[in-house]
Amino acid sequence: MRRDKLVVGNWKMNGIASSNSSLLGGIRDKLGGLDEGKAAVCVPFPYLQQAKEALSGSPISLGAQNVSEQDMGAFTGEVSAKMLADFDVKFCIVGHSERRSLYSESSNVVALKAEMLLKQDITPIICVGETLDERDGGMAFEVVREQLRVVLEKIGPKGVDRSVIAYEPVWAIGTGRVASPEQAQEVHAVLRDLVGSSDKNTASKVRILYGGSVKPENADDLFAMEDIDGGLIGGASLKVEDFAAICAAVV
Ligand code: PEP
Repeated sequence: MRRDKLVVGNWKMNGIASSNSSLLGGIRDKLGGLDEGKAAVCVPFPYLQQAKEALSGSPISLGAQNVSEQDMGAFTGEVSAKMLADFDVKFCIVGHSERRSLYSESSNVVALKAEMLLKQDITPIICVGETLDERDGGMAFEVVREQLRVVLEKIGPKGVDRSVIAYEPVWAIGTGRVASPEQAQEVHAVLRDLVGSSDKNTASKVRILYGGSVKPENADDLFAMEDIDGGLIGGASLKVEDFAAICAAVV
């Protein structure tokens, strides 16, 4: 089945209003001609309104990087899915490896977050990925399968159908060390198989992005693989030229 490719920028905790303004303006200028639904940027919470305004009328969608697993109430510092919906957020990353490792986010919490987002019609981008030790220990498939299994169990194939999955090997994030297209493809196939064990139709439709040091120079080869449906881009999404060149690889 043909799946539309997608490129999502993850700005992480970078940028301030003035630099965002030129980045968003540049992205808009360069990507104005892109088809709707092919590109998104996930910006820090305080800049959702700025990004919403800057991207309005453009084909680039707005995304967030995290969400609370709680609905509302006394959770100081947290941001709910309902709040994100107020900003017309279309995508939200959950389970990024930085959140799993630095903020002890478990797959159970990731599953609850995905569920909250789906209730607001926001597409969760469910991240999974193994560490270098896990890969070297021959555990990569097992680790990512288990991370996705927990979420799949919670939101079911219908929830996965409304989500995007991102395979992000931890050893490739921000390191400049990219997985080879073949290495990424075999993990993507494992993830698609796991979804297929619940629902074949969802498995053939769900988009699985690759993330980890994607650059203009490697995007074409990665995105050409059968089960790689685009990318989740960290560092390179902060540079207009690089992000635009990576997006050009999905048209
Ligand atoms: C990420 O953090 O999601 C990521 C893929 O980062 P980078 O592209 O910088 O490796």
